[in-house]
Amino acid sequence: MNPAPADAGILFVRSEGDSDRFRSTIAASPENVVRSDHGTTLGNAFGASVATVEHLLAALAISQIDNAFIEVAGPEIPILDGSAAPFLEGFETAGLRPQSSQRSSVEIVEPVHIVDGERAILIEPAEHFSLKVEIDFEDCLIGRQSLSIALSDAEDIARIASARTFCRLYEVDALRRAGLIRGGSLENSLVVDGPRLLNGAGLRDSHEFVLHKALDLLGDLYLLGAPIRGAVHAIKPGHDLNCRAALALYRQLHPSRQAAAV
Ligand SMILES: [Zn+2]
Repeated sequence: MNPAPADAGILFVRSEGDSDRFRSTIAASPENVVRSDHGTTLGNAFGASVATVEHLLAALAISQIDNAFIEVAGPEIPILDGSAAPFLEGFETAGLRPQSSQRSSVEIVEPVHIVDGERAILIEPAEHFSLKVEIDFEDCLIGRQSLSIALSDAEDIARIASARTFCRLYEVDALRRAGLIRGGSLENSLVVDGPRLLNGAGLRDSHEFVLHKALDLLGDLYLLGAPIRGAVHAIKPGHDLNCRAALALYRQLHPSRQAAAV
């Protein structure tokens, strides 16, 4: 990761080989989401793409980093331990520098309601950012979890940042067959099989599952490139809903781009 000028935004650059830098640059934007099933993949008009951007974007959101060039030698961001903590440690080691430009925020003018059956993301105008997330995996160890977090204290931030990605054992084979999670293992994902957690070392937090959903949501919403001033309530969220909510907000902010959208 390298510094970028003020107002450049977050720019991913596929850097392998002698690729043309212009054609291999992909801006973090809700308009550039090309897949959002098991993670968030961004792509550009030249066919370059980068997958699994969400945990790194969440780390950028938490660290209030608005501008960065992120060079990626491969099709996806490394999963590391499945959380955002290693990225935050990297930022701390490298150090951050304030830039001269004013930091912007996304103000919610009109509520955004993205609803898909019993799943929903509801974003309402509010003075400050707040996040409420509910999940329901009643048939296994994960169960029902609910979390309200304001991100104003360091302890909350650390809990979210260190929450690892999770999946169900039966999904692992299906994902492998689909060519995904090739780097996946018990080292970088919590794997749940019915009432059992297959990771011997156990959970980092009793709410680690819902905390990870909050992390994913923070990351996907940071596709907007600025923090949200509003109250976010997510019920059984996933990358698909998160990215739809980010796109709806983006279109509120940039109404002139509506016509170009398909
Ligand atoms: Zn995740």
